[in-house]
Amino acid sequence: MPIICDEDRKEASIVVSACLAGVACRYDGQAKTDAGALRLVLEKKAVALCPEILAGFSSPRPPAEIRGGDGFDVLNGEARVYNKKGEDITDGFLRGAQKLFDFVLENGITEVWLKAMSPSCGVSEIYDGSFSGRAVFGCGVTCALLRKNGIKVVEIP
Ligand code: SF4
Repeated sequence: MPIICDEDRKEASIVVSACLAGVACRYDGQAKTDAGALRLVLEKKAVALCPEILAGFSSPRPPAEIRGGDGFDVLNGEARVYNKKGEDITDGFLRGAQKLFDFVLENGITEVWLKAMSPSCGVSEIYDGSFSGRAVFGCGVTCALLRKNGIKVVEIP
């Protein structure tokens, strides 16, 4: 995770999913670098954050999917997040989403760029909870919390 200094916080008005900025924080231990997101971070216009790392998960870690709905349903207590080992890791996902949202509020962030398909960051589609590669309409837990509170989200493939 990049070190965030107070100066960076002051200048930045955007948060980006950390994996988009070249941070190797994904479940598979890799990054998913997007040139635009990385440039924003290097120019100090954006701060890179990963809700799952903020929650205390490590990288690599077992993949996770939402079962029974999408991020909004998780927030409402109607769906849960499981990893591929069958462990219920919903509480961690909620904690990470809240930590990222707290940062957004405390630092006057107006826009968040989120990595597509993630059970935390996904915006328009996520996997269906069966770990079979099937996608369904819906967003991740962090995306849902941001949207619920009126924060603009931008989906990055
Ligand atoms: S998609 Fe979101 S939760 Fe997943 S590694 Fe990237 S920043 Fe972290």
